[in-house]
Amino acid sequence: MSEQLTTTDHNREVAGLKYIYPVISRRAGGLSIGINFNPNNACNWRCIYCQVPNLKKGTAPEMDLILLRRELSYFLNEVLHGGFYQRFKVPKQQQVIKDIAISGNGEPTTLKNFAEAIQLIASIATKLGIFPQANFVLISNGSLMQRQEVQQGLKILNQYKGEVWFKLDSATSKGLFLINNTVLSPQTQYENLITAINLCKTKLQTCLVNYRNQGLLDVEKQAYLKLLKNLQIQTELKNIMLYSVARESFQPEAVDLEKMPLEIMENFADEIKAMGFQVSVC
Ligand code: SF4
Repeated sequence: MSEQLTTTDHNREVAGLKYIYPVISRRAGGLSIGINFNPNNACNWRCIYCQVPNLKKGTAPEMDLILLRRELSYFLNEVLHGGFYQRFKVPKQQQVIKDIAISGNGEPTTLKNFAEAIQLIASIATKLGIFPQANFVLISNGSLMQRQEVQQGLKILNQYKGEVWFKLDSATSKGLFLINNTVLSPQTQYENLITAINLCKTKLQTCLVNYRNQGLLDVEKQAYLKLLKNLQIQTELKNIMLYSVARESFQPEAVDLEKMPLEIMENFADEIKAMGFQVSVC
């Protein structure tokens, strides 16, 4: 039986593989090949909008690099030379590999052999001619950027012209605790961000949630804009992605969450654009 992949189908088991899952990405406009470093659904944060089922506090289990090599080679060959697009009824215009994204059911940088895994993915994708055309993306909450292993991984990512999508949902202690359930200070997260930017091309990704119908609090807005001002002085960062919750959270706070009204997002985006940044709203 043929199946259909849609832009809303983020079922990570759809390809029947442990580490690899395909997504037809609305954002990317084609096939995004996801690599899940956290098949145990463990993360060092607990964002209140998190859509990982049965999320638990913890780290990624040790990666079986032999299995990752086998799965990635098999899957990329299926897409390039097999019947993947037909099997999943992918429309012709979306039959293009847009990116390989390390985005799992948890924080990927918690993986012990993180740099080795990045190198392996890069080597296979380059050998098969996927890179440099397709993007190589690491989606991270950025909290572990001070670790040598993570920095080594970012250096490899940079060698393959990859980029980090760095999560920054709030620039206040209260906001980081409320939204991400982390006690990390805004200053530490700012330093993590600087580390990422210095090692690899980096974009900011900011999820704005309408918590208890409060909209975007002025204190949050001002702290975020101040952080951007400092970033402008210290770095070359240009791209910011603002988004809101698209699917229902699996966290207990789900009842308190709603999508941030588009008007608020766009007004905020305009203020950021006026500072000279490139901002996308989705
Ligand atoms: S960082 Fe990502 S995986 Fe971890 S809790 Fe937040 S949304 Fe979920």
